[in-house]
Amino acid sequence: MINIHDKTFVPFIPNATIEGRISELAALITKDYEDHCPVFLVVLNGAFLFASELVKRVGLSCEITFIRFSSYSKTESTGEVKEIMGLDQDLTDRDVIIIEDIIDTGLTMSALVKKVHALSPKSVEIATLLHKPDALKTPVSMRYTGFEIENKFVVGYGLDYDGIGRNLDCLYVLA
Ligand code: 5GP
Repeated sequence: MINIHDKTFVPFIPNATIEGRISELAALITKDYEDHCPVFLVVLNGAFLFASELVKRVGLSCEITFIRFSSYSKTESTGEVKEIMGLDQDLTDRDVIIIEDIIDTGLTMSALVKKVHALSPKSVEIATLLHKPDALKTPVSMRYTGFEIENKFVVGYGLDYDGIGRNLDCLYVLA
């Protein structure tokens, strides 16, 4: 059990289970992209640990680039969608694999996928460590998912609660 700010979290997914699953995802990616040189597009900050453990297990020649989102800005149709910053890599004709920490409502990822598609890539796939199927508000097609979890708030392994908890080496869930 750990306390972060005003909340208590209990152990959820241990490190060995997380990294075992990451090895499986890396093996799938290595097989699926044989003879290709994909670009991993890492969504900061939350995906930094997942991304580093994933890419070092991938046995491919590849490129890795990073993006992050500015603070929320409203749009009429999709609700809260954020502007993407740092997407300066040429993705024309490239196989892109977006690496994300968690897909909750899916609104962020669906906005990102649209923007990436506008850059004329050859293909776009998503690798997410976590997915909350019950929270999804818009369809998102994830090719590589670490764990499907209940609709509960989690921290650790890159994910924070108000800035704290990203360095925890396993996942914790709100008690
Ligand atoms: P979505 O647009 O899918 O609702 O938003 C996904 C983002 O919300 C994630 O990248 C993450 O920053 C945040 N998020 C969603 N669920 C959780 C959670 O359980 N824990 C933490 N720490 N962040 C979450």
